[in-house]
This record gives sequence, structure tokens and C-alpha cells, in this order.
Amino acid sequence: MNLLFKRVNNNKYNLIVQTMGSFVVSLDAELAWGYHRYSDDPSERIGSGRDGWFHLIDLFDQYQIPATWAVVGHLFHTACGGHHPDHPVPEGWFENDPGGTESRNGDWFGNEVIEAVRTADVDHEIGCHSYSHVVFGAPETRSETAAAELRACKQLAKQQDIKLNSFTFPRNEVGHLDILADHDFVAYRSPNPPGWFEQTPLSKPAKLVNMLTRFRRAPLMTPTIKREGLVAIPASLHLFTFEGAVRRVASPVASQPVVDIAKKTIDAATRKDGVFHLWFHPHAVSTQANVDRVRSILSYARERSDSIDFRTMGEIARERLTAESGEQ
Ligand SMILES: [Zn+2]
Ligand SMILES: [Zn+2]
Repeated sequence: MNLLFKRVNNNKYNLIVQTMGSFVVSLDAELAWGYHRYSDDPSERIGSGRDGWFHLIDLFDQYQIPATWAVVGHLFHTACGGHHPDHPVPEGWFENDPGGTESRNGDWFGNEVIEAVRTADVDHEIGCHSYSHVVFGAPETRSETAAAELRACKQLAKQQDIKLNSFTFPRNEVGHLDILADHDFVAYRSPNPPGWFEQTPLSKPAKLVNMLTRFRRAPLMTPTIKREGLVAIPASLHLFTFEGAVRRVASPVASQPVVDIAKKTIDAATRKDGVFHLWFHPHAVSTQANVDRVRSILSYARERSDSIDFRTMGEIARERLTAESGEQ
């Protein structure tokens, strides 16, 4: 919300309450860790993943828009032995971890790229995406494992004077919220509301593209307090959800709807309260087409910066919690 004085005549002004929303970008910054349980060679899946991080850092600097980088904790290491015997995960969990150093196995270590995020011109938030991509919402994930994942991240971040406040769940499967709250997190990204087009099966690309072109925009979300001191910020849109489907149909036409939807959602946020919460993986931004896609959205948002707030997840949560304490 903005308060503006509008001049009515020479010496009279009216106070106008201008409603406007926020634009939040959250990133699951995981490199190989997003795939270590599902692929023999995660490096193949992510391509030039680290390049994507650097492209994004430049884009955010260029348009002066901050993001929440939810980093996999293992990426804070500069080296490891490839085994983590004290970490309470199922046997074989780290079998794809090659160990070594960041300079040799840069898809598994990220100290240098995290440092580049921290020293960027724009003030980003470093958040958390678990330590080793354990799926918190899976029924077999024990409390002990979830707690150990968070504890390891907090310790590694603290060594670099980073306090982790925001969390994104591996595979977006929400679980163990009590443990998240116990570890002083204030924000997490919750999934899109049911019924929104992300539920569409990706196996039918033509139908999907038809659906996309019909949608005017993604929803603006309302942050909600889920536990004492812990705020859910639902996702509005995943920028690269349709990659596989889009590639199989005529791509210049097919990829455009996602950008159009993002721009229309930014327009909505310039007129209404609510959060346009866009998310994706930094490693996806390693091709020119994807760099251009992100650029067109960020530049569109920057042009409207008088009418939209740029926020991190942590800032949104703190504003929500402050508003709540004021209401009581
Ligand atoms: Zn390791
Ligand atoms: Zn992930």
C-alpha cells in the first residue's frame, strides 16, 4: 500500500491510498543436488548450471531486483570426502556425491557462486533448500532426518555470517513444519493453489498450450501464518514448468504464454494487494532463450517499479508477522 497526496487545486491536496502488490522471486539453488536421487549423471541434467547462476546475478543487478536464493546446504562446502556417515539419512543417500573440491566437481559445491550472490550489487536473501535435498513431505522422512538437514544448513551458513530465514521444500513437498519453526525459519514457499494450471498433466502439450493461452494471468497470493512465527508464501508461477512440453511443440509460440502470463500478473500486482511469487531453478537460466525469458520479465517489472514492491520471502514474512502483532 502507498499513501500519495494528489493535488486537487492550488492549495488543496487529497490523500489517496494506492493499493499495490509485491513481486517475489524465489530460486531453488541446488545444482546437481536436485537430481542426485533420480539420475545417474545429474550433471547432464543441469548442463552449465553454474553459468545460470552468474547470468541471473547479472540480470538481477541490471534491473535492481532482489531474489531469495534457497540454497542446498551441501553447496556451502568447498570440499568433502563424498561420505557423510554422521548424517541420519537412508543408506546410500550420498552414493552419487563424488566428493572432492569445488574446482573439480563444481556441480556439487557452490561456495564460489554463493559468494557471488552475496556480493552482488542488489541485496539478495540467502535462504535454504535443505542440506542434501531430502524430501521433507515424504512419509518415510523421519523428524530426526529433517532436523539434521536444517541443523547442518544453519551451521554452515553461520560460518559465513548468514542467517537462514526462508525455506523452499525439495520437490515442493511440505512436511515437518514444526521442525522448521523450531529452527527459527520465518517463511516457506507453499505449493500453488489446487486448480491452477500447474496441475495439468504435462503429457498433453498441445492441450497445455491451448490452456496457457486462455489464462489471463497467474494468481496473486496471500501470505498466511501457519505456525507461530512461520509464514507460508504460496507460489504463483513456475517459470519453466512447461519446458519439456513446450520443446515438443512449436517453441517460439509456445514459450511466449508463460512470459505473457508473468507480465499480466505483474500488471495485476500494480493494482491490487497480494504477492506475485515467481520461482524457478537458477541452473535453467544457462541458455540464451531462458536468459531472454527472465530478462523480459525483470525489465517489465522494473519499468513498473513505482507501482509494485520488490520483496524477498523473508521481508514478506516479517511484514506479515508485524501486521499480525499490530492487529492483536
Ligand atoms: Zn559431500
Ligand atoms: Zn530442489
